[in-house]
Amino acid sequence: MQHINTLLIANRGEIACRIIKTAKHLGLKTIAIYATPADEGALHCQMADECYCAGPLPVDKSYLNIENILAIAKKAKVDAIHPGYGFLAENADFAKQCEAMGFIFVGPSSKAIAQMAIKDEAKKIMQNAKVPIIPGSITQDLQSLQQQAQEIGYPIILKAAKGGGGKGMRLVHRQEELQDAIEAAKRESLNSFGDDALFIEKYLINARHIEVQIFRDSAGNTVHLFERDCSLQRRHQKIIEESPALDIEQEVKNKLYQAAMDAAIAIDYVGAGTVEFLLDKQQFYFMEMNTRLQVEHPVTEMITGIDLVEWQLLISDGQNIPLQQHQIKSQGHAIEARIYAEDPLHHFLPTTGTIKDIFLPNANYRLEIGLQKNDKVSIYFDPMLAKLIVHAMSRMQALARLQECLNEFHIVGLTTNLPFLRNICQDPAFLSYTVDTQYVENNLHRLLPQKITFAPIVPVMACMITLLKRKQHLNDTQEPDSPWNKLNAWRLNLAHQEKLTLQYQLEELHFVIDHGDEYHIHCKEKDIDLTVAGFIAGNQIKMSLVEHQIHATFFADEKMIEIFYEGQAYIFKTKTQNLIEDKNQSLSNHYILAPMPGIISKIWVKKGDKVNKGAKLVALEAMKMEHTLCSPKDGLIKAIKFDLGDQVEEGCELIDFE
Ligand code: ADP
Repeated sequence: MQHINTLLIANRGEIACRIIKTAKHLGLKTIAIYATPADEGALHCQMADECYCAGPLPVDKSYLNIENILAIAKKAKVDAIHPGYGFLAENADFAKQCEAMGFIFVGPSSKAIAQMAIKDEAKKIMQNAKVPIIPGSITQDLQSLQQQAQEIGYPIILKAAKGGGGKGMRLVHRQEELQDAIEAAKRESLNSFGDDALFIEKYLINARHIEVQIFRDSAGNTVHLFERDCSLQRRHQKIIEESPALDIEQEVKNKLYQAAMDAAIAIDYVGAGTVEFLLDKQQFYFMEMNTRLQVEHPVTEMITGIDLVEWQLLISDGQNIPLQQHQIKSQGHAIEARIYAEDPLHHFLPTTGTIKDIFLPNANYRLEIGLQKNDKVSIYFDPMLAKLIVHAMSRMQALARLQECLNEFHIVGLTTNLPFLRNICQDPAFLSYTVDTQYVENNLHRLLPQKITFAPIVPVMACMITLLKRKQHLNDTQEPDSPWNKLNAWRLNLAHQEKLTLQYQLEELHFVIDHGDEYHIHCKEKDIDLTVAGFIAGNQIKMSLVEHQIHATFFADEKMIEIFYEGQAYIFKTKTQNLIEDKNQSLSNHYILAPMPGIISKIWVKKGDKVNKGAKLVALEAMKMEHTLCSPKDGLIKAIKFDLGDQVEEGCELIDFE
């Protein structure tokens, strides 16, 4: 590099780690930042050459704290700052201040960011560049939003004018829904982007999200790196992305590439950018331009063999794009799946917890992750935990590999969307790629993991793991004080008969085990009466029953056993303890419990109000998304146990009913 020797990465998590990898490969010194207390010692800090505290949580005091970050940049004598995605990546003011202080901002000019940040301005520029657009406009006041919705015709979509990542976005089908949608979108967009102006446009049903990766250097060379199909979304947020996109005529693709490059040229863009389009049959419309590295950039890296972060750094260093268009080739098929800390069985509410272990697949894959064992997943950050990317010669092969990887990938200690991803990857519509941006929503009943009703073999496995683990521990350590030797659940009866109690969800399972060479396991609650033999090795259990062999992956500590078997995770508690109530049951008859940790962002009711079943009560904001809690029954509000803006913990009592 000519000008960049030291690079500050103004981000965290998987993207900070990913950028550090390339920077190191290029021989740069890397500087990480972190927020206290959550990210002290986080993986990205461990990987960087130096790390500095940017401030405490929430993120506006640290990862969004421009003053602190620039002070660190000065202190660490950095030449350039890479913002990653999210946080300050599309903050024109930040880019401008970097420029003013003489730091190279690894991204486009502050002017280009500002032009593309405001959705209607971006559209005007595109319209002038003859790129097709969906009509729409921006406004803050309720009346004109209502009037415009009328003119455009339903369904319409509201977006945060300065938004991104699906936040502040609401799809509205009918006029009656408009006012509530406007209010929620405004609140969410104010929270996330500090501005509540909304953008309203016609909603295209059954469209596909196709985006084009472009690069432009300061000499004016402009290239595209093909397209990504990001139609697989839930609530307008991408879940699975792939390249190349299927079933688009080459002629249409060429036009898309050209439109994307024209967009970049129109604003004299320099750096990596993504131009997003909606494709309705074979007609495409400009949606927006993202002036940064995208979450899903690895898909493009896999098919082109190009390191996009390296190109970003080269261009920021003042160098030209290293390849010409005809030298950039697409090979094979790549798919990325995003792994989120969320619970598909409970309206995808974000989940929190401590990562007890991570089990990695054996197949050939790429994993982007910024977490490691013992890290805490909190409400302060985006719930995306990791990205799993596969690449193969054909889509079929890539899918087979993705299925294999998803089946073998487990994050212990946290509920994730992995079972949901597994279902998507086996769904016939996805396999044959007849999907659009509403596919997930329209087929949720089929894609959601089933409520777990397990085969009898699963509790037998849990019982065997406890027995074998204890035996192994005794053999290994001979430590009389080890927790495995004094599990509360154990009561030794006879020499060869033992009793064990495990808890699955709210049910206690009582096992009676007779053992010699084999184990005879009896459990009356599950009507189990089986003779099995088995052994454990590492995190694998193998069991033989009369006719067949079964194996599964597991994690066990003194409190719990988590078994991963046939795409599902089953958690057994080893000692009877008060479980947090099943989240469905948190809406009990007399009170409402917080289904997740969060901040109270709206209260619709007050003490003494009569409410009908389904009425909105409170909105809880977690991980920058707003979740509405509704009344489980007709009733009277007896007490409200918090104020607006309060931080509440999962399971805490929010409202009392009469
Ligand atoms: P964000 O900037 O928050 O990521 P986008 O404008 O990129 O929002 O839109 C996110 C997703 O929302 C799109 O991928 C698409 O699925 C959906 N969407 C946005 N606008 C429209 C529209 N006018 N018609 C249909 N779907 C839309």
